[in-house]
Amino acid sequence: VMRAITVVPGQPDSLALRDVPAPVRDSGSVLVATRCIGVCGTDREIISGAYGTAPSSSDFLVLGHESAGQVIEAPSSSGLGPSDWVVGIVRHPDPVPCPNCAAGEWDMCSNGRYTEHGIKERHGFAAEQYVCTPDFLVRGDPQLAELNVLVEPASVVAKAWEHIDYIGHRATWQPRRVLVTGAGPIGLLAALFAVQRDYEVHVIDRAVSGPKPDLVRALGAQYHHGGVEGSVTAVDIALECTGAPSLFFDVLEVVRSNGIVCLTGVSSGGHRIPVDVGSLNRELVLENNVVFGSVNANRRHYAAAVAALGRANAGWLAQLVTRRVPVTQWREAYVKEPHDVKTILAF
Ligand code: BGC
Repeated sequence: VMRAITVVPGQPDSLALRDVPAPVRDSGSVLVATRCIGVCGTDREIISGAYGTAPSSSDFLVLGHESAGQVIEAPSSSGLGPSDWVVGIVRHPDPVPCPNCAAGEWDMCSNGRYTEHGIKERHGFAAEQYVCTPDFLVRGDPQLAELNVLVEPASVVAKAWEHIDYIGHRATWQPRRVLVTGAGPIGLLAALFAVQRDYEVHVIDRAVSGPKPDLVRALGAQYHHGGVEGSVTAVDIALECTGAPSLFFDVLEVVRSNGIVCLTGVSSGGHRIPVDVGSLNRELVLENNVVFGSVNANRRHYAAAVAALGRANAGWLAQLVTRRVPVTQWREAYVKEPHDVKTILAF
């Protein structure tokens, strides 16, 4: 047996550390020792009972989709060897498969029957060990060690940027100014990618103290707290990383002609804002604006994430991890504290 963090999906506060059977490796798969797990909003949503599905063969779900681990044993054909750092890919293709999943683009699954480790019908990585086939593992950067746990959130950001590029290249495209709303892990990583592309970067968040303002400034980006209006104008690219419903419209206000708005934050439903759909339509049409949503990542995006993190300042990346909780105190890792950026649970 081994220890794992589990929930009973749909049952609020069923979070537990329990003994589960240790995984058994077959000749084609890789046995991985989990080193750490990242905690994100999706985990907290699952813990609240609002999201998540257990595998059909289980009445609980092992949590954890952001991971960094080290290989214990791997098939020689995999190119992986003992103590190599690896990251598990979250999503697996649907069984049909749809045209996107058939092409390895499971992040664009078109029938919704995909599965996700630690989220949807597949156990997660928050266990002492896990077994995975090599095609759903990504080689981490040995220099990053435990910070490879940032590869999964960075993969989500890499996909968002890839799609911004695709959309931008519908015409001559010389973007200059980027706005990121939210200085959580996704917002900060989105800003990192923007800085690596030499854009002028603005980040807006509510925080007036804590590590976020300095993390933004250390990137060479500008930090603003409070509202979007009055902070920045003439934005070419905006990444909305909070899911706060009103920001959707605030961001659209400051995006210039041909501008692109990428939504990565998920709003909880039920927020009602009076909207003039007519003027929204005018705004989008007369300015050639695109607003699009982006979720998840495929293997190409994980590779881009490893590369981008490898180019980043290691000290800056380390500061994104504001709390490192040992598994013996697992409960604390899932309680959000005011100045948290990324909390990791160390196995
Ligand atoms: C994960 C994605 C996943 C999404 C929806 C996010 O927290 O990072 O990989 O697709 O949740 O389940």
